[in-house]
Amino acid sequence: MADYRRVTSVLVEELVKIVGAKNVTVDPEKMETYSHDEETDPRYQHMPEVVVFPDTAAQIAEIMQLANRELIPVVARGGGTGLAAAAVPLFGGIVVSTERMNQVLEIDEEAMYMVVQPGVRTDDVQKAAKEKGMFYAGDPCSGDSCVIGGNVATNAGGNRAIKYGTTRNQVYGFEVVTPLGKIVRLGGRLEKSTTGYSLDHLVMGSEGTLGIITEITLRLKPMPQNVIDLLAIFPTIDQAIGIVAKVIKAGITPTCVEFMDNATVKSVEHFLKAKQPHSDVGNYIIIQVEGQSDEDIEDKSVLLDELCMTNGALEVLVADPAKIWHARKSFLEAAREESLIQSKEDMVVPVNRIAALMHEAAEISRKYSFITRIASHAGDGNVHFHVLKGDMSEQEWDSKLKAFQKEIYVLVYKLGGKLSGEHGIGYKRRQLMEEYADPVELEMMRAIKKALDPNLILNPGKIFLVE
Ligand SMILES: Cc1cc2nc3c(=O)[nH]c(=O)nc-3n(C[C@H](O)[C@H](O)[C@H](O)COP(=O)(O)OP(=O)(O)OC[C@H]3O[C@@H](n4cnc5c(N)ncnc54)[C@H](O)[C@@H]3O)c2cc1C
Repeated sequence: MADYRRVTSVLVEELVKIVGAKNVTVDPEKMETYSHDEETDPRYQHMPEVVVFPDTAAQIAEIMQLANRELIPVVARGGGTGLAAAAVPLFGGIVVSTERMNQVLEIDEEAMYMVVQPGVRTDDVQKAAKEKGMFYAGDPCSGDSCVIGGNVATNAGGNRAIKYGTTRNQVYGFEVVTPLGKIVRLGGRLEKSTTGYSLDHLVMGSEGTLGIITEITLRLKPMPQNVIDLLAIFPTIDQAIGIVAKVIKAGITPTCVEFMDNATVKSVEHFLKAKQPHSDVGNYIIIQVEGQSDEDIEDKSVLLDELCMTNGALEVLVADPAKIWHARKSFLEAAREESLIQSKEDMVVPVNRIAALMHEAAEISRKYSFITRIASHAGDGNVHFHVLKGDMSEQEWDSKLKAFQKEIYVLVYKLGGKLSGEHGIGYKRRQLMEEYADPVELEMMRAIKKALDPNLILNPGKIFLVE
């Protein structure tokens, strides 16, 4: 790791010249927010030395050039909703917040695209598209507080990834400031391209380690006209998860297939103080489908009802979308109310292995007497397996969690899976990444990082270590 210098008052003055005095802060109280993301374990928190609020790519380019000259680390910050401590300034230095870059710049209804600045909230992207009768398909559960730049940087998934893909699939191209402070446009408003390396795909999902995204051109779609949400309730996890492959095999392409285990249903019920159907024993599968017409929706619903009932469902209900999605999106906060400290595993396996993962993971957590809460973007094999610390001592928690993770990730990799389906590696999973990723793959990643960021200035200490 580079030998970084400290931020001096002279450097702060230079930052003031770039972005203006009111857009720079060194006030510890104001900077506290930027010392953490939504990972609540205080051990992952680190204070920045200065936070800046630029509003143009040119300003960010100047900041990067200055940081290279003075060997000061820089971390880009979106909504701060990450769960991997990726936006935490591990070595202090400068945090570049995109808060002021929050404008929708253009919506083209004919060509169906939208140009946005990185600090636009994801919900506002969806709303802006809807106002023009169009649809932005990205839908992370944190949409009310994360921003689109953060979504691109983490390649956020979410509820609709099974049908529409992750954020990567919603992006035509973007403008990015490189670690050395140059401005470049990657990708393009094209349906295909074989014009050298796909650098856009390299930067997307790189968790702010290869560039700071300053403008994004997003793909829009026609607004689906006929949509239904079904809630299928099963007495066992095996029956609930078992339905996923059957739904996909039946030729229906659902927009969402989400899972919540019974303990999570109870936790959400308690948190929202709102009775959930069959919460005494029920494990939930929420299925959303779109149709060409009312008849099409009716046919799909009948088929899904048959499939679920044959698989042992207690009941299949037409769900109130507002209520059921509020319940699903409350999963994290509800679990957090039970235990502020928890390990939020985000593993992903091939869809046909998700039942095996759930089964064996439950066995392993029982062995360690862990309390768990499980929700899953089941349709794309991504399981949010939260292990709650509760009132365990620090020492017991640390040693048990380490042993648990060892078993669980050996299992995940044996099943053909990976460490993270959507939350990323950040700082939190760096150690696991070093242990489980293919060493050659890591070598390639390190070589890319060193080539693009020779001074290791941009978001250092994330994903993997580089010497
Ligand atoms: C309640 C809750 C539900 C969630 N649900 C989902 C979900 O369904 N799917 C999912 O994928 N994630 C989910 N997350 C995780 C998180 O919301 C996503 O990772 C999101 O994409 C992070 O966006 P952000 O704006 O908050 O980014 P931040 O947390 O601010 O930053 C995340 C990373 O992106 C980098 N970054 C931010 N902006 C830029 C930029 N302009 N240029 C370059 N790098 C940048 C940062 O340096 C950091 O490495 C959830 C989180 C919470 C708290």
